[in-house]
Amino acid sequence: MNSYKKATQTIRHSWHNDSHAAHAPVTVNPPVYRGSTVLFRDYAEMCKAGRGELAGPVYGTDRFPVQRSLEEAMQKLENGAVSRIFPSGLAAIQSTFLAFCKSGDHVLVVDNAYQPGVSFCQKILTKFNIEVGFIPPAAGADIKEFLQENTRLILLESPGSNTFEIQDIPAITAIAQQKGIVTALDNTWATPLYLNPFDLGVDVSIQSVSKYIAGYSDVLMGAVTANEKYAAVLRDYYRDMELYVPDSDCYLALRGMNTLATRLKQHERSALQIATELEDHKTIETVIHPALPSHPQHALFQRDFTGSSGLFAFTFKEEYSTEKLGEFIDALNLFGLGYSWGGYKSLLTAGKVHRHTASRYSGKTIIRLNIGLEDPQDLLADIEQAIP
Ligand SMILES: *Cc1c(COP(=O)(O)O)cnc(C)c1O
Repeated sequence: MNSYKKATQTIRHSWHNDSHAAHAPVTVNPPVYRGSTVLFRDYAEMCKAGRGELAGPVYGTDRFPVQRSLEEAMQKLENGAVSRIFPSGLAAIQSTFLAFCKSGDHVLVVDNAYQPGVSFCQKILTKFNIEVGFIPPAAGADIKEFLQENTRLILLESPGSNTFEIQDIPAITAIAQQKGIVTALDNTWATPLYLNPFDLGVDVSIQSVSKYIAGYSDVLMGAVTANEKYAAVLRDYYRDMELYVPDSDCYLALRGMNTLATRLKQHERSALQIATELEDHKTIETVIHPALPSHPQHALFQRDFTGSSGLFAFTFKEEYSTEKLGEFIDALNLFGLGYSWGGYKSLLTAGKVHRHTASRYSGKTIIRLNIGLEDPQDLLADIEQAIP
């Protein structure tokens, strides 16, 4: 080294040859890699990488160790065959369609699916001659009426965004399997802890990792997990697209996952307590929470789910003006006003429901609460002092 000029010495191209590199510590949490280039040890190894025979990453887009650990953790939690990580939950939904569909196909989307995913179907998939249809939010065996010869994929989300209807997943997957149609389920609400999509015959499970898994509102990320039958399709798609997520973000998601079970239990308990209390409030019409006996598909919830999370909604008896609704919302002290959910901070969104199929909530304002990890008594008192 000393024979080199200073400028050459400053270029640390071989840190792994430094004297301390051999004593790299084993920490509880994994080391985070940053890189585009991956250096091969010699030309033979480079040739091996070229033949696709190297087990580790050959380039930055080939998923560094923390990303691969997160994939493996997701695959085991979901009990699927292969998982891949995407830059957002929306990217995970979009990639599912792009991986499994081609021009000339027809896809069905449940009418309470995450809106930006629906928008992608209507605006982007249709450009590639993929036809999009909608099924009712509480669909079951009646899915038959919506199938076409060219139906390729059905996207489910149960409970669905903001109105929380539950689909009869096994009834739908049984029919889809007979016809060789791929079923994908957005499993963000229940997480793999409270619903096992593959046990219900689903082929592909989607997670917005941004929500409960990462858990701290500081990461945008998604995950797609496929069963054995479709594992190769997902693996090949991901490789061909050269998608990847930085190790530093995967690190945060993996760190969040360590406390997922504990956080979820508290979210569940607090949300149920608050939902139950709100049901008795004189100005509230309906509290929409699948774990409440009053929920229209409560029996399906009890059959398929092992727990509930902290996101639910309610409607007022009276349809308030924007001003009056604003008075209620702005009087809240503990609820942040903002999108996304699944983090420790309680949040609120409010908006009218628009559906393609008939819905009891059409035209109604839905107030959605993300119950965070504050004390539930404080959250309830906050809602009660603000409510009209
Ligand atoms: C938020 C959300 C998504 C999208 O996740 P991002 O990571 O925010 O892109 C997808 N599905 C559901 C059900 C969601 O709530």
